Amino acid sequence: MAIRLDGAALAAQIKQRVRTEAAGLPRPPALAVVLAGDDPASQIYVRGKERDCVECGFETRTHLLTAGEAPARLLPLLENLNRDPGVDGILVQLPLPEGMDSRAALHTVSPEKDVDCFHPLNVGRLALGEPGFRPCTPAGILALLDAYEIPIRGRHCVILGRSHLVGRPLAQLLTGRDGTVTLCHSRTQDLPALTRQADILISAVGRPGLVTADMVKPGAAVIDVAMNRDPEGKLTGDVDFTAVDLVAGHLTPVPGGVGPMTRAMLMENVLWAARRRSRENL
Ligand code: NAP
Repeated sequence: MAIRLDGAALAAQIKQRVRTEAAGLPRPPALAVVLAGDDPASQIYVRGKERDCVECGFETRTHLLTAGEAPARLLPLLENLNRDPGVDGILVQLPLPEGMDSRAALHTVSPEKDVDCFHPLNVGRLALGEPGFRPCTPAGILALLDAYEIPIRGRHCVILGRSHLVGRPLAQLLTGRDGTVTLCHSRTQDLPALTRQADILISAVGRPGLVTADMVKPGAAVIDVAMNRDPEGKLTGDVDFTAVDLVAGHLTPVPGGVGPMTRAMLMENVLWAARRRSRENL
């Protein structure tokens, strides 16, 4: 059996450290969450983030907008939050209600408060390897690899999925750590031939059963980012867990792998923003 990469346990440790570090700031870090519409999954995610903030000793406030009022009120609300010195981080929960321009919203969030790292300025800083916010899911994956001392330098890292949320920023972070990265997508030919070369295989597609045991190099670290719901509503990843468990060296569970790490990295980003603001106010 592969060694489990226990994201839930590591995330709990990280949040504990974040709480200790936050307690040393002049005031608690503050996260503003904007939730527009009534998507049930988004409501669950937002409640999770609120709980994380409480665990870390942060202040948090969720601003609720109905789908009807969001088109007129969302951008003015974000502009107010940008100006509010009591807010360190702003998060717009996606997806926005149908017909709303998420790009305009994400570009309106001040880059200094952009704890999801979606603003083009922060995406550019990441691409250039400059200090700044790190996107939560990719940063969480790196933290997991580091905690289990899985080397990245010189290793072949194969990523399935090239989204702006996961695959692309992850490719940049792994490249920055001297990994050799292959970024795959729906048009990639002969996927198994590539995945079988991977020392680190990361799947962020959203298709249950995509990664089978014969696609995995023996001993590889396999990171399953996906969160799919099976017909009974149970959470599953992209990886055929039972079969891949017999081949891989390390494997993330779903749930309890990348998901909690993503949330812990959000807390790290809020702390980072609060620290920077407190230094600016000295
Ligand atoms: P997305 O925007 O839908 O991107 C999916 C990617 O998969 C696309 O690049 C697509 O290629 C590629 N793809 C589709 N079929 C493929 C195939 N057969 N082989 C290889 N690549 C294929 O999804 P996302 O937002 O990145 O999310 C991906 C998954 O991760 C979802 O299950 C999501 O729920 C989960 N997720 C989890 C977390 C977490 O914290 N655990 C965070 C974010 C996302 P094209 O570009 O060619 O279309």
